[in-house]
Amino acid sequence: MANPVQTTLLIIGGGPGGYVAAIRAGQLGIPTVLVEASALGGTCLNIGCIPSKVLIHVAEQFHAIQAQAGDSPLGIRVGAPDIDITASVAWKNGIVKRLTQGVGALLKKHKVTVIQGRAHIVDGKTVDVDPALRGRAGAPQRIRCEHLLLATGSEPMALPFMPFGGRVISSTEALSPKKLPASLAVVGAGYIGLELGTAYRKLGVQVDVIEAQDRLLPVYDAELSRPVAASLKALGVGVHVDTRVLGLSDDGKALRLQKGKGDETRLEAEQVLVAVGRTPRSRGFGLSSLMLDMDGEAVRTDTRCRTSMTGVWAIGDLTGEPMLAHRAMAQGVCVAEQIAGQTRYFTPEAIPAVCFTDPEVVTAGLSPQQAAEAGVDYLEASFPLAANGRAMTLQSTDGFVRVVARKDNHLLLGWQAVGRGVSEMAAAFGLSLEMGARLEDVAHTIHAHPTQGEAVQEAALRALGQALHV
Ligand code: FAD
Ligand code: NAD
Repeated sequence: MANPVQTTLLIIGGGPGGYVAAIRAGQLGIPTVLVEASALGGTCLNIGCIPSKVLIHVAEQFHAIQAQAGDSPLGIRVGAPDIDITASVAWKNGIVKRLTQGVGALLKKHKVTVIQGRAHIVDGKTVDVDPALRGRAGAPQRIRCEHLLLATGSEPMALPFMPFGGRVISSTEALSPKKLPASLAVVGAGYIGLELGTAYRKLGVQVDVIEAQDRLLPVYDAELSRPVAASLKALGVGVHVDTRVLGLSDDGKALRLQKGKGDETRLEAEQVLVAVGRTPRSRGFGLSSLMLDMDGEAVRTDTRCRTSMTGVWAIGDLTGEPMLAHRAMAQGVCVAEQIAGQTRYFTPEAIPAVCFTDPEVVTAGLSPQQAAEAGVDYLEASFPLAANGRAMTLQSTDGFVRVVARKDNHLLLGWQAVGRGVSEMAAAFGLSLEMGARLEDVAHTIHAHPTQGEAVQEAALRALGQALHV
């Protein structure tokens, strides 16, 4: 065994949770070692958030040009476009490379020691890194630490009767297509299924989406998912809700489906993208030996990101839902600052969530239904994008902004919006909730014209009975 490395903070996993914790720890002067088995940036930068948004952008550009070919109402005259998906994937890889190299440079700048290899937990203060996985022979590298931060992320959930392989793919393969299939069946109409399903459709693939529940995006309320469903229909995506996948047909060329209690049907598909959720990565590296309190596969943490073992912390997807990169990053900062001696809690007012469909969906804080379930006496008001000038210029008026606030003192409780480009409203939504703003604060803030942001102000005005443009 080589001489053990001694450090204050040892982080397993270099995704957005782990690498942000490491940068912040470095800023605070904490000796830090980060172990990463694959690539810095984790799921988010390599096979998640960024690659998916690249593919969505490529598909949107392609589709937009295609929409102008022929008799464009905008007066643009252009021929039918073509897509070279190999070049698109290369462009995506370039962006991923720039970002992951940037993470490496930031870690170096903040004097974080990065060790490439698979970590195996020996005990709460000792970790071995397998040299074979670092391409070297010899004994494992042992690292001893005062604090161990677990940030190992998550992996795609497989359907037991239809494992990944061959024509059954996960988001990872769908983000690096060697060629586009003629047809794609998407199992699961959640974030990944609808983001990637929409992108593939816009690239010209015949797409069918199969969802077990009775509507698309069941994580959101029906009003929010309605414009997304309408847009999928207009794009020609086949939508099969309340439908169970029974497996692949004997010839392997089709999915066997059952809608409700109906008869079995067959759906031909060249590829099948399974996107039915992700599982915390808590197995295969000795974590179980710590006997931590768990919630299923997720490590249970308290409001300070502490596990049930002193000195062992956990953040990000490993700790369960919501599995979002910005949550992992905020938790990483929270842990680093506590190790530096600060009193910090991870108790945000809201964690915004965005689904990058067309139109996009953004939420922060409580929906009307959640406010009702919490027993709060609330007000809600919506402002339609059909009454917003900027939305008209963007040819995207199917959507709205909705606000939820306490009835007694008008304290904001939540925001929801659906529409083209509304993801950027997440900043205003999160800020207003975190700062404890009231309806009047938003209603009396001058919003630039013409922007879709005016719909945010108008929703607040409407809740006060003072809407100007509706
Ligand atoms: P991860 O990013 O999964 O990183 C964990 C890291 O730990 C990995 O690099 C892994 O190699 C490493 N690791 C695991 N075990 C070991 C070990 N034993 N030794 C050493 N290293 C190890 N979220 C958003 O907020 N917005 C989005 O738009 C978005 N889009 C997404 C699109 C897709 C297709 C997917 C799959 C996910 C998306 N997400 C999005 C979710 C987001 O990627 C995750 O929430 C985020 O990456 C979680 O960060 P993390 O640090 O917890 O884990
Ligand atoms: P998801 O939980 O968003 O959606 C899974 C969907 O599959 C659900 O609608 C569920 O009802 C359905 N489903 C489950 N089992 C099924 C079955 N057997 N047959 C048919 N449908 C079934 O999960 P996901 O889309 O795989 O994404 C995983 C996680 O990754 C998300 O929860 C999210 O945290 C993260 N993510 C976030 C973004 C973003 O922030 N924009 C994008 C992609 C992924």
